[in-house]
Amino acid sequence: MNKVSLEAKNISLSYGSTEVLRDINLRVEPGEFFALLGPSGSGKSTLLRLIAGFNQHQRGELRVDGQDITGIPPHARNIGMVFQSYALWPHMTVAENVAFGLVERRETREAIKRKVGAVLDLVGLGAYAQRRPGQLSGGQQQRVALARTVVIEPKLLLLDEPLSNLDKQLRVQMREEIKHLQRKLGLTTIFVTHDQEEAMTTADRMAVLDKGILQQVGAASGLYDFPGNRFVASFVGTANVLDGQVTAVSNETLTFKLPGFGSLTFPRPAQAPSMGDVAMAFRPHQVSIQVRDAQVDASRVWMDGLVESAEFLGESSRYRVRVGEVSMVADQAHYAGLAMFPPGAQVRLGIDPTQVRFLHA
Ligand code: ADP
Repeated sequence: MNKVSLEAKNISLSYGSTEVLRDINLRVEPGEFFALLGPSGSGKSTLLRLIAGFNQHQRGELRVDGQDITGIPPHARNIGMVFQSYALWPHMTVAENVAFGLVERRETREAIKRKVGAVLDLVGLGAYAQRRPGQLSGGQQQRVALARTVVIEPKLLLLDEPLSNLDKQLRVQMREEIKHLQRKLGLTTIFVTHDQEEAMTTADRMAVLDKGILQQVGAASGLYDFPGNRFVASFVGTANVLDGQVTAVSNETLTFKLPGFGSLTFPRPAQAPSMGDVAMAFRPHQVSIQVRDAQVDASRVWMDGLVESAEFLGESSRYRVRVGEVSMVADQAHYAGLAMFPPGAQVRLGIDPTQVRFLHA
């Protein structure tokens, strides 16, 4: 199979005076599993529907395999899309649902039978060919929707929140199955989700969208470790994002003023932020929490704080700690015998400076 790339160049789309996509640039590589991640209303579905041909952009270019597809109607694009609702025909059997696109393409009876059989085996529904969608579980219906889409051998597979109608356990199972199917078929796939865990566990790379603007593109670990801005830091994983000012930068150090607390000195990061208003970001599990009089690890940056709340989560305990005028979250790995700090406890928080990011906007 010929694996294709998808390229969006300076794509903008407005509904009336509302700009829903602003100057989107991205490239999905041939055979890649790519996620569009963002909160509700960020423009993910609009972008996906634009690729499918159901929406039209006002500016920019959209290329599949190097060819501009603007103006090509949806049915002529050879792009498969799986909708959140599955959109199966209730009066048809599973086999008839899956065969539909092949019948429309006037394939021969033998070819249809062979292809439907093969794809149903591929999704593990070989024994369910004569059932109707209403006789299947949610996960099985999802598999029929996938089978029906991939059986036509599309150039691109588009998945619009395909797991959101399933319960938690099934979602985890289905996301593994979808990933497995995508690997097997090698289809360039674009997956829309508002769930960062879903995007992180399935996609090779992802684009984070907010308010119609592409915030950052990269592999999950890259976005998690090096978020480019405050939005990405908070949306991909959990982060403490604290507003303050960079008041001095030397060759070796950076001084950050945290409101109501004072100045903290960090080793200068490779790419030092400019002076002025900056946010300091770090992950809750990268903070250590200790009693005030304990010996401290000198490689960390320490701050005294007061425990505001404590939650026991099993594998860890999550503390909200007041430091100066701000509250921050610290997770402590749990083991049997480790006592929790109660609310009101005077503690000391230590941040690993190599894990702190300084972010603009
Ligand atoms: P997401 O998929 O990220 O939840 P959408 O792409 O569905 O977001 O929507 C992005 C924005 O565009 C939202 O503010 C939504 O209200 C608006 N929008 C979507 N479709 C239309 C439409 N047909 N007419 C007007 N506004 C729309």
